[in-house]
Amino acid sequence: MNVAIIGGGASGMVAAIVAARAGAKVTLYEAQEALGKKLLATGNGRCNIAHRTVAPSRFVTDNSAFVESLFVRIDSASIEAFFASIGLLWVWHEEGKAFPITYEAKSVVKALSLALQEVGVTVQLGQAVQTIVDTPKGYSVRTVDGSSATYTRVLIATGLDAAPQLGATQEALAWAKALGHSVVPTYPILVPLECAHTATMQGVRMRMEATLFIDNQKITSYIDDVLFTAYGLSGLAILDLSRYASAALAQSKRVKVTLDLLPSWSKNGLTQHFESAQKEFPKRDWLAVLSLLLPQKVAKELLKTLSIDGALPCGKEDARTLKRLVEGIKGWKFEITATHGAKHAEAMAGGIDTASIEVASMESRLKKGLFFAGEALDVAGDRGGFNLAFAWASGMVAGQALALKD
Ligand SMILES: Cc1cc2nc3c(=O)[nH]c(=O)nc-3n(C[C@H](O)[C@H](O)[C@H](O)COP(=O)(O)OP(=O)(O)OC[C@H]3O[C@@H](n4cnc5c(N)ncnc54)[C@H](O)[C@@H]3O)c2cc1C
Repeated sequence: MNVAIIGGGASGMVAAIVAARAGAKVTLYEAQEALGKKLLATGNGRCNIAHRTVAPSRFVTDNSAFVESLFVRIDSASIEAFFASIGLLWVWHEEGKAFPITYEAKSVVKALSLALQEVGVTVQLGQAVQTIVDTPKGYSVRTVDGSSATYTRVLIATGLDAAPQLGATQEALAWAKALGHSVVPTYPILVPLECAHTATMQGVRMRMEATLFIDNQKITSYIDDVLFTAYGLSGLAILDLSRYASAALAQSKRVKVTLDLLPSWSKNGLTQHFESAQKEFPKRDWLAVLSLLLPQKVAKELLKTLSIDGALPCGKEDARTLKRLVEGIKGWKFEITATHGAKHAEAMAGGIDTASIEVASMESRLKKGLFFAGEALDVAGDRGGFNLAFAWASGMVAGQALALKD
């Protein structure tokens, strides 16, 4: 089989190795001058390579059955075994996340690059594919520099446009549409959220409970780091709830995040704490009292938002003000106006509709010889190794099928 794989990222590299091992003649096209540029940035350079439990609920997709069926075929143990077969070992963390034993994303790219060489894949670096056309002789693949070649089978593994500065494109969608496939609208996930009233607290990171409301309905909440930025909210808790927030914003729904700044304190406990401060230190001003409980920048902005004069002695405040303060700490409201955009996202939800793709092979049901893998498909995962797990699993399935004789 004379096979072209478009995209030398996670799914494309794995598919190329598997297909070449199974006997296919493989050419891998990569637009960048190096393989796996996005992979190098994963997990802050440590690469959270997979998750032990790849349940369909951890993915955003219109077709959960497709995801479930893929991971029945290729589970995290099979992916780990594939990596062991190319010489890269993993470590598992208690909560289920896996990392390369080196904790370095570059060792993942190194292991894949070495294996590509060893199995004889022709790697075309700096070769951005422009068009893929179905001809009577096979798929004609033309690059931006004008060269073209025809292949019996072609795999589209170019991902989507989260973090375009790392080489990501959304060309897969146009190619898929031109070849008869439909596309589910895309939107960024694992992305910071924009809102007002955070700029003065820029750089403050705290463990909080972030709760998401869509059209005033509580959707979900996470306790983890939240980072205040010049444009809004970031940090792990915000990235986690962004999949729901981003989907709602795309449908012009009202999105609100409330922050419980002190999740381990009850409202009663806080009230008692302030009442005793009022008794013991009646002359201390509210900013001083609050700054011993919260970072100073946060204390200042919260008092401003609640219209409480931070310079007033705490002993003078009445019960109503105290109640407002406690409620502000336990549920500070931020109206979300937008996501911070694909440039700052770790993944895109939406993509090529999987309803027309055979899960056992990743081959199109509409066009024989046309295959898809990775994030270009309408499957995007939670934080925790789910996106790479899907890229590896879909790449492994596609790689096997690309090499099969007709
Ligand atoms: C900052 C960041 C951190 C992340 N961390 C994690 C993590 O720790 N764990 C996790 O599971 N997921 C993580 N992800 C998500 C994960 O990296 C992606 O989901 C995954 O890489 C998708 O794999 P893919 O093969 O579909 O696409 P990619 O890995 O994006 O590969 C696509 C390749 O196609 C190439 N390409 C594009 N257009 C063309 C063209 N026209 N011609 C030729 N080549 C082309 C690109 O240059 C790229 O190399 C992270 C993402 C980002 C942005």
